[in-house]
Amino acid sequence: MRRSETLLFTSREADGHENETVARTLRAGLVRQFASGRYGFTPTGYRVRENVISVVEREMDAIGGQRISLPSLNDSGIWRRSGRWESFEGEMFTLENRDGKRLCLAPSHEEGVAHLVDGVVRSYDDLPLLLYQVESKYRDDHARNGLVRTKEFTMKDAYSLHASQDSLSRWYERVREAYVRIFDALDLEFAIVLADNSVMGGSRSEEFVALADEGTVSLRSCPARDCRFGVTDESPRNDLSAGDACPNCGSRLEAGDGIEIGHVFELGTRYAEPMGLTIDTVDGGERDVVMGSYGIGIDRLLHVLVEQHGDENGCRWPDAGADVGSLAPFDVSIVPLEYDGDLQTIADRLYEELGTDTLLFDDPDRTIGERFAESDLLGVPWKVVLGNRYRKTGAVELESRDGETRTVRFEEVAGIVG
Ligand SMILES: [Zn+2]
Repeated sequence: MRRSETLLFTSREADGHENETVARTLRAGLVRQFASGRYGFTPTGYRVRENVISVVEREMDAIGGQRISLPSLNDSGIWRRSGRWESFEGEMFTLENRDGKRLCLAPSHEEGVAHLVDGVVRSYDDLPLLLYQVESKYRDDHARNGLVRTKEFTMKDAYSLHASQDSLSRWYERVREAYVRIFDALDLEFAIVLADNSVMGGSRSEEFVALADEGTVSLRSCPARDCRFGVTDESPRNDLSAGDACPNCGSRLEAGDGIEIGHVFELGTRYAEPMGLTIDTVDGGERDVVMGSYGIGIDRLLHVLVEQHGDENGCRWPDAGADVGSLAPFDVSIVPLEYDGDLQTIADRLYEELGTDTLLFDDPDRTIGERFAESDLLGVPWKVVLGNRYRKTGAVELESRDGETRTVRFEEVAGIVG
């Protein structure tokens, strides 16, 4: 994108938000607040969110997930059938249509998935299935810390359907491992916490909790690399304190705050039974479908990424590997000392070569320092500096977001930053 034609919301003024990560997210202009617990994504914020979704999609597809899209506007009927119309009351947005029919904005889609496959999935032969979507969810919850807790948020929710509990347990493990790969690809520090199943029902569930300065839960977690044991105040082993031995590996647990970023549930027949979702069995009988459900909070992942990777100059984004690359809104900035004459010609040529994931600073008014600061605030991993060195030697300076600089030949740039 050309800087002069791009809608950027970057601001060097701190907006006074007491949470440093929220302030940084707003300064980088990734989102704008509409009201308490409601945010709009800007073009740059949207680019980052799409990159995060690509990582999630990559790993869900790799384990056989099939993407779907279900309506957010649900009739009360399916929620009454599952018994959750009442239990979600207070947290669910409910409304009435012009015919006086009761509706809700879905806070979750177990009922929706059961409805989607009803009458189509009829035999043990049709299963297992893993269906997922990346859509908005609505919960009338108390807003907290920017994208951490909002009333409307993007979630990756997945549902697995099985003919037996054994099959569910195998797929639960498979999704759990995919979640570990997703959060590893985002280079996050997180713990996996045994959880209770309060609202969703069912037998087994675990939460993925990212370490945070200010979180939604207080966490005791194992510092050993790849152990990932953790407990929160709500988990079944909540008697463990900082300094106690990790039950997995014996390291001393550390106390801190955490933000829940993912959750996996073995639901069993909690939904199939009231929804009447049954299949024919091998021996000619009939049984309830066994289900699992699995969620990742996409928007709050952005908050966690900004917090865990950012620094005093703004955002930093990890490289998520195959098919995605850097999560940054742009892969590289082209920063000419001045956008004029020979430097303009060469900047345009490089821009053509590198493509649209590039931010070309083509606006004449700002200083090179301001351009550097803006590129760093956005977390663009590379800056190509076109200045006197290019004029004298034909070489350009490449500077990484972390301040590492090197001088390369113009022809080498695309190979390094592309
Ligand atoms: Zn441990």
